[in-house]
Amino acid sequence: MAKIAFIGLGNMGGPMAANLCKSQHHVSAFDLSEAAVAQAVDKGAHKAKSAAEAVKDAEIVVTMLPAGKHVREVYEKDVLPNLAKGALLIDCSTIDVESARHVAELASKKGFEMIDAPVSGGVGGATAGTLTFMVGGPEASFGKARPILEKMGKNIVHAGGSGAGQAAKICNNMILGISMIAVSEGFMLGKKLGLDAQKLFNVVSTASGSCWSLVNYCPVPGPVPASPANRDYQAGFTAAMMLKDLLLAQQAASAAGASTPLGAEAAQLFSLFANSGNAGKDFSGIVKMIEGK
Ligand code: NAD
Repeated sequence: MAKIAFIGLGNMGGPMAANLCKSQHHVSAFDLSEAAVAQAVDKGAHKAKSAAEAVKDAEIVVTMLPAGKHVREVYEKDVLPNLAKGALLIDCSTIDVESARHVAELASKKGFEMIDAPVSGGVGGATAGTLTFMVGGPEASFGKARPILEKMGKNIVHAGGSGAGQAAKICNNMILGISMIAVSEGFMLGKKLGLDAQKLFNVVSTASGSCWSLVNYCPVPGPVPASPANRDYQAGFTAAMMLKDLLLAQQAASAAGASTPLGAEAAQLFSLFANSGNAGKDFSGIVKMIEGK
């Protein structure tokens, strides 16, 4: 049993912390939202009054926060100054590569090992403990973190040095954003051509147009019962988060001199969608905008 501090208990962090509790670890939980902490306590975690309190005896710290600025702030102000000797730091948030490397460097200067370990698999994967982790950091730190990550995920990949997990994640999510738009366009065209959504799903899911956005997260109601389309696009993964990731991909593409024209288009479309009152909706709700609604 390890002493784990878990900071950021939202849509993803909540069920991830619950899986650590299930595997008999001692989880000290903190979030700015009292309700999120209360839910974690219901699942077996111990309430911490602050991030500083959560980390003070921890052997392992896991963070699952919205964006780079939150990660920088929480590590600089609360985590790094209050850690016990030898603690291993695991940031699972999706953030920019630069912030990930900056925080890892600060940790290293203080003698702590840190990895970036963003995830893929959504709330469903977080709940089922089947997330994919893409990890950036030294091989030895990856080895130490692996047994903990295995309690929350199935596919654990060491992507390279510090920041490589974030780099893999933004490439993945750029593909996801583009493919969700492609599936939405296909289904809206099918609708105009008089096709039944279930029949189109049956064809495409076993044909060359198949992809994760279709098979696991179909943006129209019906074919995939667990997809947010069946609950009025309640998130899941918000349009605001998808926009954040697409903008991170654009920022990285521009810095690296990579051409990502469809990624740029997807960022524009998700910006339109999120900024017209849909930021908190699931990202698959973009199908409604494509439908013209
Ligand atoms: P969320 O908004 O549901 O949860 C974030 C939590 O962090 C909130 O509960 C918030 O109160 C808390 N928080 C913010 N600042 C804090 C601070 N200073 N101290 C303590 N707690 C703080 O977001 P989420 O959907 O759980 O996503 C978290 C991260 O995971 C994001 O980086 C996102 O891009 C990534 N991600 C999300 C999904 C998904 O499907 N939701 C999938 C893969 C990756």
